[in-house]
Amino acid sequence: MHHKTIIEPFRIKVVEHIKMTTEAEREAFLKKAQYNPFLLHSNEVIVDLLTDSGTSAMSSNQWGGIMQGDESYAGASSWLRMEAAIKDLTSCPYVLPTHQGRAAEHLLYNQIGGKGKVFFSNTHFDTTRANIEFSGATAIDLPSPEGKETAVSHPFKGNLDVAKLAENIEKHGAENVAAVILTVTNNSGGGQPVSMANAKEVAAICKKHGILFILDACRIAENAWFIKHREEGFDEKTYREIAQEMFALADGSVMSAKKDALVNMGGFLALKDLDLAIKCRTVLIITEGYSTYGGLSGRDMEAIAVGLQEVFEPDYLDYRIKSTAYLGNALNGLGIPVIMPIGGHAVYVDAKAFYHHIPVEQFPGQSLACQLYLKGGIRCCEIGSVMFGKYDEDGKLIPAPMELVRLAIPRRVYTQSHIDYVIETFKALLDVQEQATGFKITYEPPFLRHFTARFEPV
Ligand SMILES: *Cc1c(COP(=O)(O)O)cnc(C)c1O
Repeated sequence: MHHKTIIEPFRIKVVEHIKMTTEAEREAFLKKAQYNPFLLHSNEVIVDLLTDSGTSAMSSNQWGGIMQGDESYAGASSWLRMEAAIKDLTSCPYVLPTHQGRAAEHLLYNQIGGKGKVFFSNTHFDTTRANIEFSGATAIDLPSPEGKETAVSHPFKGNLDVAKLAENIEKHGAENVAAVILTVTNNSGGGQPVSMANAKEVAAICKKHGILFILDACRIAENAWFIKHREEGFDEKTYREIAQEMFALADGSVMSAKKDALVNMGGFLALKDLDLAIKCRTVLIITEGYSTYGGLSGRDMEAIAVGLQEVFEPDYLDYRIKSTAYLGNALNGLGIPVIMPIGGHAVYVDAKAFYHHIPVEQFPGQSLACQLYLKGGIRCCEIGSVMFGKYDEDGKLIPAPMELVRLAIPRRVYTQSHIDYVIETFKALLDVQEQATGFKITYEPPFLRHFTARFEPV
């Protein structure tokens, strides 16, 4: 028979206690946090959907590996296992371990960037952009036209606009292009997938112009699921083979292991070019640690080696993508405006459409994040004018293009009943939709204000 219920393809061996709270308690916690969920303590939260980064639950095999971690300074067996797993996946002979993704980005983009250089991407993730701009270079996003339409359904909304890429290489001069970075899946664009055909076209353009092609591979396994099920010709291939095929197109890759390596900390840089690898390795040893551990313990590297195998297991990936879609489709069914189709790791709610009575100057996304916490103890992240808003010369808000709230799903952490509870909370919010009020900012730092800003209801 065909079962409708998505059961988690794992049993629970160790549990982590969740403290249940009442709405009155949460009202006090939220006030104390000055209406910024980032300032809540984690034990005040019932379901934490703030991020999928570093929040995965590890398997018994990973925990078993933790005990076997080899903490030798040089040439540890745990490093050799991690290195072998990455070489096999990426077909890159040179692998540099780092403490997380942004450290790998810093090593590479600082090396190849600098003043006058330009980078192109489907969308630069915020740490990617920050590292590029920090080097003095310019980061230009070239998402496909479908990717910009929240209501339009398309199988590969994460694609890079190859026509624009060709135009831009012409305009800036190939010699000034430091790299083209394909982010899979496209995190900032809603966790939307990138097709193999798109990756091939990007690779061909880069090759023609002698430009370095880098994969930001944080969610390469989730992306492989979409290719197998949505792109012609990939039915018969395994998820791992699809990932290997995509890696093989690139000259190198950066990856935060906190996503699809199913661990709480780690990352790597993998390269095909020896000269570039040596330059990055020199800085790695100065800033992160010796070249056979980067910033990692032996046990971390052991867990990454195991996680990079487990993430490609068909039952896991099927559950992962379908359970994220389960939440998104249920919200869509309730008439809650979400970005469609649902991406791999998160559901994005359009708060401006949900709270159309709250003007963007009063941050409807912040309102929704606060309401979800108040009614259900659910923590999530505003991705709108709190995060990306700017001010003009008269101090008037220049709003972000969209007012979104992101529900990011940690890997292997919550069960379907937790997700049903989230859906139920949204249902309750529909009944009090008109009562939600906006917010004003009472304190903000000059950079990355969403982390520490304070608010007051208006
Ligand atoms: C998380 C992430 C990074 C940065 O990795 P960290 O481990 O957080 O430093 C880079 N790119 C993408 C697409 C990411 O999602």
